[in-house]
Amino acid sequence: MTYEINETHDPELQSWVESANDPNTDLPIQNLPFCRALDTKSSGDIFVGVAIGDKVLELSDDVCAALGTSYPFGETSQAVITGVSPQRLSELRRAVSRGLASDAADDVRETLSFDLHALDDCEILPAFRIGDYTDFYCSIFHATNVGSMFRPDNPLMPNYKYIPIGYHGRASSIVLSGEDIKRPHGQNRSDAEKPPIFVPSRNLDYEMELGFFVGQGNELGSPIPIERAEEHIFGVCLVNDWSARDMQGWEYQPLGPFLAKNFATSISPFVVTMEALAPFRTKAFERAEEDPRPLEYLSSERDRRFGGLDINLEVYIETERMRKENAAPFRLSRSNTKDLYWTIGQMLTHHASNGCNLQTGDLLATGTVSGREKDERGCLLELTWRGKEPIEMPTGEERRFLEDGDEIIMKGFCEREGFRRIGLGECRGRIIPAE
Ligand code: MN
Repeated sequence: MTYEINETHDPELQSWVESANDPNTDLPIQNLPFCRALDTKSSGDIFVGVAIGDKVLELSDDVCAALGTSYPFGETSQAVITGVSPQRLSELRRAVSRGLASDAADDVRETLSFDLHALDDCEILPAFRIGDYTDFYCSIFHATNVGSMFRPDNPLMPNYKYIPIGYHGRASSIVLSGEDIKRPHGQNRSDAEKPPIFVPSRNLDYEMELGFFVGQGNELGSPIPIERAEEHIFGVCLVNDWSARDMQGWEYQPLGPFLAKNFATSISPFVVTMEALAPFRTKAFERAEEDPRPLEYLSSERDRRFGGLDINLEVYIETERMRKENAAPFRLSRSNTKDLYWTIGQMLTHHASNGCNLQTGDLLATGTVSGREKDERGCLLELTWRGKEPIEMPTGEERRFLEDGDEIIMKGFCEREGFRRIGLGECRGRIIPAE
């Protein structure tokens, strides 16, 4: 099943939750992303909910009954998203959309109002229990830029156009937007004449990525065909793959990233469903004439035509000084997921192609999303060309890599003529000093 554009995407649709009708909100009634939350002002438990405007609708038993549906994720008391079919998820979306629409019946509205929490009062928790995390390397612009710093004559490895390159990350250190990031210690061998030293990272960086969650998994030994890949994807979020470049450069050969990456990974709070993204699908990356075609198991007509995602991504920095001077955060880059060389369907299918079992809540991320242009580079390593070309900011400050007190703010949003703009919200994290 693939999600079609339907009445839930109607740009005219308005909600009785007034804040959802603000043209600048990331969370209009056309979005309806999932989250897990705890209302710190009430005595309730952790719940699964749907965010709208400045509120989150708790999917309580009462709310589900009023919507004429049932809670799809096992028991409401468990408050964790489980693997459900795209059909079930789609039914729920229609029901929630009807219940939150301005023309909803008074009694429905009354029941829903009772379980509507102010986002400001809620502590937001990761939407899934994330068992495993895999990070890819799917921007050919990022891979070419980074490759050319280290191998100017041969930036792309021979496998790049055949394999969605990835590595297994670590799930335990995934944190939610807003949590501080402590500068990690690690081995640094900047002086090749001397042995490495163990110091706080000197080249701390961020990576702007799109993440996607596995909804329904697959059995061990049963690959997922490309035609069915998206049935296994629940939705997307923003990911900041914090990276200690000095540690990475010394440790990465021959087995790839390790401690340079797993000290922290930040994710945005809401999971925007694949159905909400239906109006923002686009063709897969158009390969150059001389590039190889993807192998059969990574090819489908539908994936070629609609496998891409048109999601705008932006990265801002707010330094200590900007906060002191009340200066606006400075935009470091903007890029778009439509420039990724591989689609999320290809990443997922490739991941399971050897029979590897993906499980509900697994997080897969695209790798740094960079574009063709200089201002579309999704990390400082690329933007400052390994620190050689520092960034100058309106406060007069310069950055090669991140300093203590710097906050990185990532944003994502979708816009298309004839549709309501929807947003992925923000992914924030501030660097605090090493211990
Ligand atoms: Mn990464």
